[in-house]
Amino acid sequence: MERQTQQSGAGGLVDRFGRRVSYLRLSVTDRCNFRCVYCMPEEGVALRPSRELLSYEEIERVVGALAACGVERVRVTGGEPLVRKELPRLIARLNAIPGIREVVMTTNGTLLRRDAAALREAGLRSVTVSVDSLNAARFAQITRGGDLGRVLDGIDAAEEAGLSVRINTVVVRGVNDDELLELAGRALRRRWLLRFIEFMPIGAETIWSDLPRGGCVPAAEIRAVLGARWRLRELGMTTGAGPARYLNLDGPDVPSGDGPGVRHVGIISAVTECFCSACNRIRLTPQGGLRACLADDRETSLRDLMRGGASDQELRAAVRRALGAKEETHDFDIDGAQVTRKQMVSIGG
Ligand code: SAM
Ligand code: SF4
Repeated sequence: MERQTQQSGAGGLVDRFGRRVSYLRLSVTDRCNFRCVYCMPEEGVALRPSRELLSYEEIERVVGALAACGVERVRVTGGEPLVRKELPRLIARLNAIPGIREVVMTTNGTLLRRDAAALREAGLRSVTVSVDSLNAARFAQITRGGDLGRVLDGIDAAEEAGLSVRINTVVVRGVNDDELLELAGRALRRRWLLRFIEFMPIGAETIWSDLPRGGCVPAAEIRAVLGARWRLRELGMTTGAGPARYLNLDGPDVPSGDGPGVRHVGIISAVTECFCSACNRIRLTPQGGLRACLADDRETSLRDLMRGGASDQELRAAVRRALGAKEETHDFDIDGAQVTRKQMVSIGG
């Protein structure tokens, strides 16, 4: 089964298990204006000096080098990407790179009212906003101080600017698992493409270690809750390049029509229904660390290589070496401990 890491087509990136990389998750900062209980400790994470971050020029160079070997889609994430200065300028530069077909972003939405129009002008078409509760007091607890009204207003601003909206909800038992139907109902009415995410054991000092089985609500249970209200049809991984498996929902209160978000809800289940065999992604941390897998702390510093004078070819060779060491699957265990040293906020979820 195992094959050597190989070039394919015009020098594509394919790992030992035949998985082709076409998608980069690009974290532009490990700063955040929230402190979500499932993502980081209350006191936040130690911030690194800004000279350690990749500059926009360095990011553009890495993405250009990766685009030349098959990376087509970039998701800008963080930390909170919009706290990094002049992010729309980076989005425009990434969009202009030959071979990059789509640049999208995941955000907590707090700064969307300020930036949505500029992002749209820079070529962003879609934005994913994290919303874990529709109850303002609970939202403030989960995010340790976040303002739900401001996030919902940010979503309105994104839609007014012409961005399509997707919603991510991390489901945590005893925290927000009683809101699945309300969240799905709101998403259907507003035509947001909603994805429920299983809580993952990433990073030390999140609430995972305080809860039985980490508080993870398995995908099967999420499906059962939705299935008690709506008729479900499994669609598989059809919408977008991400790992969500989608369900088509049918019932009297489901708006008619076609297209993403109209009748669909996705579930991202990295813990109980692992999707590693379909993995098409690599990750870049704000400091330029290339990670072949979210759950594997090994990183290759593309920043040090670039600052040491490496050519694009040498950068790509380093990416291929990292891919050559990528495991077939990660080892999340619903009954186990958290698995990475780094927090999600520092990796870019
Ligand atoms: N700050 C932005 C946001 O919250 O959307 C972008 C960065 S955040 C790390 C990216 C995504 O990872 C968010 O949708 C967040 O809910 C999700 N996430 C963070 N920690 C997680 C965990 N332990 N398990 C599952 N998803 C998590
Ligand atoms: Fe910040 Fe996003 Fe992590 Fe929440 S999930 S703390 S908003 S990076």
